[in-house]
Amino acid sequence: MKIEDILAQERRARMAAERLLAQKQAELTSANRVLSQHALTLSDEILETRVAVEEIKGENFQVRADLQKANEEIVIAKRRLWDSLETIEDGFAVFDQADKMIAANSAYLEPFDGLSCVAPGIPYTDILHIATDEGIVDIGDMRPLAWRDMMLDRWRAPSCEPVVLRLWDGTHIKLVDRRSRDGDMVSLGLNITETVKYQAELSEARQRAEAANRAKSTFLANMSHEIRTPMNGVVSMAEIMAEGDLDDEQRLYVNTIRQSGEALLTIINDVLDYSKIEAAKLTLQPEPFDLERVILDVVTLLQPAAQDKGIQLILDFDLFMPSKFIGDVVRIRQILTNLIGNAVKFTSEGHVLVRAIGLPLGESDEQKVHITVEDSGIGIPEDMQSHIFGEFNQVDSDRNRKFEGTGLGLAISSQLVELMGGEIWVDSQEGAGSCFGFHITLPVEQTVKLPKLPNIPGTVVLAMEDRLNRAILEKRLEATGLQTELFDPQEPDKKLVRNAYMILVDEQCSAKARSQDGCNLIESLRKQNQTAPIYFLAAPRSTAAKHSQDAADATRVLQMPLIRSTVFEIIDQIDKPPARLPIDKQDAQPEVPLVMPKTGKSGVRKMRILAAEDNKTNQLVFTKLLKELEMELRFANNGIEAVEAFLDFQPDIIFMDISMPEMDGKEATHRIRTLERDQGMDPTRIVALTAHALTGDDREILAHGLDQHLTKPLKKPEILHEILTHCPDEARCPLPGSCP
Ligand code: ADP
Repeated sequence: MKIEDILAQERRARMAAERLLAQKQAELTSANRVLSQHALTLSDEILETRVAVEEIKGENFQVRADLQKANEEIVIAKRRLWDSLETIEDGFAVFDQADKMIAANSAYLEPFDGLSCVAPGIPYTDILHIATDEGIVDIGDMRPLAWRDMMLDRWRAPSCEPVVLRLWDGTHIKLVDRRSRDGDMVSLGLNITETVKYQAELSEARQRAEAANRAKSTFLANMSHEIRTPMNGVVSMAEIMAEGDLDDEQRLYVNTIRQSGEALLTIINDVLDYSKIEAAKLTLQPEPFDLERVILDVVTLLQPAAQDKGIQLILDFDLFMPSKFIGDVVRIRQILTNLIGNAVKFTSEGHVLVRAIGLPLGESDEQKVHITVEDSGIGIPEDMQSHIFGEFNQVDSDRNRKFEGTGLGLAISSQLVELMGGEIWVDSQEGAGSCFGFHITLPVEQTVKLPKLPNIPGTVVLAMEDRLNRAILEKRLEATGLQTELFDPQEPDKKLVRNAYMILVDEQCSAKARSQDGCNLIESLRKQNQTAPIYFLAAPRSTAAKHSQDAADATRVLQMPLIRSTVFEIIDQIDKPPARLPIDKQDAQPEVPLVMPKTGKSGVRKMRILAAEDNKTNQLVFTKLLKELEMELRFANNGIEAVEAFLDFQPDIIFMDISMPEMDGKEATHRIRTLERDQGMDPTRIVALTAHALTGDDREILAHGLDQHLTKPLKKPEILHEILTHCPDEARCPLPGSCP
C-alpha cells in the first residue's frame, strides 16, 4: 500500500475518531444536562422533604406536649373524682367483671375499719363473708349463709334491686348497685340513717295524732250519746205535756221545748255520725234496694218544706235505670237527704231538681249511678266551694245565720261517698244557684222491665203549664220511643187530640188563663167525646184523693212526681180497651196505725210488759206514754234484772234498752233466747230501744236476736203498735177494742 493511501486511511480514521469523540462529547453534555436537571429536582425535593420533616417534627412535638397535658389532666380529673368521692358521705365502689373490687372510697370501707384485707382486689363474696363473720351487718333472724346467698343472688340478678342494710351500730345503708355495659359493677352505699329515723318519728307522730283524733271522735261519739239520753227525756216529756190540758201560752212553751229539743237531737245525730266515721267505726252494709223508691222517699219527706217556701221539688229519674242495686241504702239516703235538704234550705224561689242517671260499665254487672241536685238558690262563691266540704264549714257565718245547720252535712256526705269509692262535687254561681252531684258505682241486682210500645200510630198529648215538669215528662216518654205533642188549652187543636194515645193534664195546666184549670179542661174534653185515657197529674202534696171528685172525668189521677212504674203502666194501657183505673195510691205514706180494727183480744189476765231501762227519766216517760193502757208494767234496771224478770214475770213483750250497766240489752237477749230454747218456750217478742241514731246499728242489734228496733225519743204510736199487735190471746187487750 502506498503511503498516501496509508496517510489517507489514517486521516479518515482520525476524522472518524474525532467525529465519534464529538458525538460522545455531545452525548455527555446532554447527559450532564439531564443529570443537572435531576440534581436540581432532587435538591428541590430534598428541600421540600426537609420542610415537611420540620413540620412533622413540630407537630410531633405538639402531640407529645398535648399528650402530656392530657395525661396531666387525666391525673387531675382522677384525683378530683376521688377527692369528690372521698368527700361524699355515701359509699362508692367499683367491681370488675370477676366481682373483684377495683376501687372504693373511704365511706365504703369505713364499716370494715381496721380490716386491711378489705381493699381493691378483694372479691365481693369475701366482703359478704367478712360482713357476717365480723358481725358488721345486722342480719336479724337470718342464718349467715342464707343472708350471703340472698345478697349474692341479688348481686347477680339482671336487675339488682336496692336493699337496705342495718349495721351493728344502727346505721342504715341503702345499697344501690348497677352493672355497667362492660360488666363492671358500680356500688353505692347511701347512708339513710337520718331518713329512717325521721320516718320512724313521723310515723310515730302520725300514729299519735291518729290515736288522738280517734280519741276525740270517740269522746264526741260518747258525749253525743250521753247527751241524747237526757235530751230524749226532755223531748218525750214535752210531748206528753203537749197532750194534756194547756192554755195557748203553755202550749207554745211546750212546743218550743219540743222543737228545740228535736233540733238539738238532729245536731247531735250529725256529730255522732261524723265522729263515728272519723273514728273509723263505720262500715258499709250493702243490701239490695230500689233507688227510685229511696229518692222518692226523701223527696216526699222534703216536699212539705219546699211547698211552704213556694218552690218546686222535681224528680227526673232515668227510665232505663235498673230497678234494684246493691248498696248501703241507709247511707245513700243520708247523702240524698243532706243534698236535697240543703238545696231546699238555701233556695227561696224557683226549683230544686233531682236527677238520677245510670251509666252501664261495659259488660260488667255494675253501673255508675250519677245523682245531681240542682237548685236556683243563693249559690256559693267560688272560693268557698271546696271549703264547705270540710267539717263545721259554712259559707260565712253572717250569711248562714238565718239558716240552721252545723256545717257537718256535706263533710259527712263526702266521707260517705268516698267510703263508697265515689266522688262528690259542686258547681255553683253565687246568686244563681248550685248543683251538687255525686257518683258511685253499684252492682245491679235487678234490671228494669220496659213497657211494650203500641202498634197503632198516635201521640201522647201533654196539656201541661209547668215547663220543667213538661220537659222532663216529654224527655222520658220520648226516650221510650213515644211521640209527644203539646196541647195549648187556649188554642185547642182538635186533630191533635183525636190522634192521642192518652192525654196528660197538669193540675195547673192553664193557671195563666185562670178561666180553666186542669179539671175544667178534662170536663170539656169529655164533652167533646174524647175517649182516649185522660190522666190528671196532681201536684205533689195536693192529695190524689182530693182530686178524685174534682177530676171525676179523668181516667185516673196520678200523683206527681210520676214514678217509673206508673209511666210504664200507662204506656202498657195504650192498646188496651179504656178502663177506669183506681185513684193512684202511690203517695200513701206507710203509717203506724194508732187504733187497730175493732176485733180484739178478750183473755182474762192483763197483758204483761217488761221494760228494761236504767234511766229513771226514760222509765217515767215510758209510764206516762202508756198511762191509759190496762196492763202490768214492770221495769228492770239492767240486763241481769231483765233476765230475772223474764223468768218470774213471764212478760208478753219486752222493751229492751241496749246500753245498760252491768249487762247490756244484747247480752240479756242472748240469755233469754238461750233459756227459751232450753225450756222449749215460744220466743217472746223483744223490742230494742236505743239512743243510737244510726240505722247501721239497727242490723247489728237485730243480729243479737231482737225482733224490732225503735229509736228514742220514744214515739207513742210505735210503742202502742208493738203492744197492741203482740197481745196474746189469753190476755185482755190493754186498750179495749184496739187489738187485731
Ligand atoms: P249545714 O247545711 O248544716 O250548714 P252542710 O255541711 O250541709 O252544713 O253545708 C255547709 C255549707 O255549705 C252550708 O252552711 C252552706 O253555707 C253551704 N251550702 C250547702 N248546700 C248549699 C246549697 N244548695 N246552696 C247554697 N249553699 C249551700
